[in-house]
Amino acid sequence: MERVIDGPSVRTLAARAAGAGGVPKLSFTLEVTSERYFRLGATVKSAHNGGMDPISPLEQALHAARALVLADLVAGRVAEADVVSLVEESVVQRRWWVEQWPEGAQYVAGLVAQDVQDALLERYGRWPLCPVCGTGDPHALEVQPELGPDPHWVCSEAGVKVAALGSLGDALGGAAPS
Ligand SMILES: [Zn+2]
Repeated sequence: MERVIDGPSVRTLAARAAGAGGVPKLSFTLEVTSERYFRLGATVKSAHNGGMDPISPLEQALHAARALVLADLVAGRVAEADVVSLVEESVVQRRWWVEQWPEGAQYVAGLVAQDVQDALLERYGRWPLCPVCGTGDPHALEVQPELGPDPHWVCSEAGVKVAALGSLGDALGGAAPS
């Protein structure tokens, strides 16, 4: 019994275990698990291919969010393959989120838009650029409300609603330079 690990070592190991494990790792595992589950589910669903199961309101909200954000990416001519994958990543994460909080379904579109905006800012730059202000530094539109239904693109500099999410193409009109 004297040959077991001495006290200080045990405490160090325990501290390491606590530091390395704990909540962050657990939530990461949960997220990965749900991602796998839903990817599997999507595969099974498309294999069935009959529309026999009604699409849940949650799935409808996620489909709508994806479609709206993709429409605005297309309008801004940034819907390249790797950008589309950013949308998919966000949808996967928000699917998990809204599973935990179904009342948030109507907020998902605005959140996906903001996720994609943040991801684009890191990798590409500001999106979507404000089409309203002709002068001054180029600036991005913001999603308002940040957490609410019926999200819009808003220019905070001019203080105007530019377009509903998904309708950015209308705001850009035919005036966008190619
Ligand atoms: Zn502006």
